[in-house]
Amino acid sequence: MLIDSHAHVASEKFDGDRNAALQRAWDAGLSHVVVIGETSVAARDLARTDPRRLSFTAGVHPHEAHQFDATRDSALIHALVTDGAVAIGECGLDYYYDHSPRAQQLDAFQSQLDIAAVTGLPVVVHTRLAEDDTQRLMRASAARGVVGVLHCFTGSVVLAHAAIEIGWYISFSGIATFKTWERDDVVVAVPDAQLLVETDSPYLAPVPHRGKRNEPAFLPDTVARLATVRGTTTQELSELTARNAIRFFRLDLPTSSN
Ligand SMILES: [Zn+2]
Repeated sequence: MLIDSHAHVASEKFDGDRNAALQRAWDAGLSHVVVIGETSVAARDLARTDPRRLSFTAGVHPHEAHQFDATRDSALIHALVTDGAVAIGECGLDYYYDHSPRAQQLDAFQSQLDIAAVTGLPVVVHTRLAEDDTQRLMRASAARGVVGVLHCFTGSVVLAHAAIEIGWYISFSGIATFKTWERDDVVVAVPDAQLLVETDSPYLAPVPHRGKRNEPAFLPDTVARLATVRGTTTQELSELTARNAIRFFRLDLPTSSN
């Protein structure tokens, strides 16, 4: 068992070879991929083609927050939840790129945390150079029962501990294989039960695929690196993080491969 908890396989970057890329993922030992969606129906429609191995989320990325329309987008997200979305997101705050004004990022993020609170679904959070605001909103939503994952984690130990303390999950991507990676302290700090793994494909291909388009089939390279840091085996970390993904997203899947 191995689950990619975050892949943009509905993106147009996969238009040329989506089925072949997914086949490579199954051949590489993946059992399931969570397709990160937007407020379009593409992720939903893709997941419907193979519901046992694909599920989907619905949300608005902080880069797109300038286009966020609370009434329209909340309605779309709620409709996708009715259609079976397993999480809200990805949403969050990105003060590194600042592709959208921060006030609008905060609005869009808060709206989606509200939807998570109302629907009881988990939330997939993107956060970069926005630790104070992220902590504040994440703690407030946790007090309303929202569980989230800080995806593609590159933040500080302080942010990681804040998330761990409120029961949120932390997910690592191929960045953890880069020479420039310096957050092994966080990799070992995350409790077994709160750890997820992801590719974030088509972005951030792990070593030795760096520079290529990323795809779910490359996930084992990241898992191998994380397993080394945590003093476990690739096999055990695959099974552990798959069980965590099944619990987090409440996937209707068996929790063991036997
Ligand atoms: Zn993403």
